[in-house]
Amino acid sequence: MKPRRIIFFGAHPDDPDILFGGTAIKLAQAGHIVKLVSVTNGDTGHHILSRAETVRIRYQETQASAALAGIYEYQVLDHPCGLEVNIANREEIIRIIRCFAPEVVITHRLCDYHPDHRAVAQLVLDTAYTVTVPHYCEDTPIPEKTPVYAHSFDRFQEPRPFRADAAVEIDSVLEHKLALFDCHKSQFYEWLPWNSGYKDFNVKQLSEAERRQWLLRYVERFKVAAEMARDKLLATVEYAEVFEFSPYGASCEPEEFQRLFSC
Ligand SMILES: [Zn+2]
Repeated sequence: MKPRRIIFFGAHPDDPDILFGGTAIKLAQAGHIVKLVSVTNGDTGHHILSRAETVRIRYQETQASAALAGIYEYQVLDHPCGLEVNIANREEIIRIIRCFAPEVVITHRLCDYHPDHRAVAQLVLDTAYTVTVPHYCEDTPIPEKTPVYAHSFDRFQEPRPFRADAAVEIDSVLEHKLALFDCHKSQFYEWLPWNSGYKDFNVKQLSEAERRQWLLRYVERFKVAAEMARDKLLATVEYAEVFEFSPYGASCEPEEFQRLFSC
């Protein structure tokens, strides 16, 4: 079987792990070629570290996570948070997609709460057609096959709820996915607790079981996702990452869309 090439664009250096980590692990284990991209360097996301120090640590954390996941590459682009939707950024993403030549491109939805997530969604969707246009980025050849575009799961209801067109059970790799989170220490044990009101959070005071319990908070949403996609999953599946087909990229029958994520 020819390995599939799949790329995920997230806004920050932990979004790919949260939204696609389990699927990335399973695809990599099955011999597929998975690339994760954080379009910003995450510089503003810490309450104590300087922006430069945050960038340095965030990059190291992505590389530790990539090694643990067994994926091909985890690229962090050198954009500060507060990402702009502009032509230069769109062309950078076109070049990344053309060089990697994926079958599937995945990103956030346009209705996400975070401006960087929305900017990445817009930039990536804006490549769905232009990636095929020869006079865009003439220095980078167009791959033979136009990729299918997809969105990762969110719980936003406006303008419409997420549609789970494909589902991947992640119960079998749940501990492995939590171990990816554990690589992002400056996020899951520092910034995210502080930002959600746990100002005195100290991971060193937690037992192993308490630490795991803390990380489980960040996969709770994938129980909701599994319920949403129950028709595509066994009744016993507890956690699933789900994906929505985007009509902007290559066309794709529903069965084929599910097959693209199968491990
Ligand atoms: Zn994010």
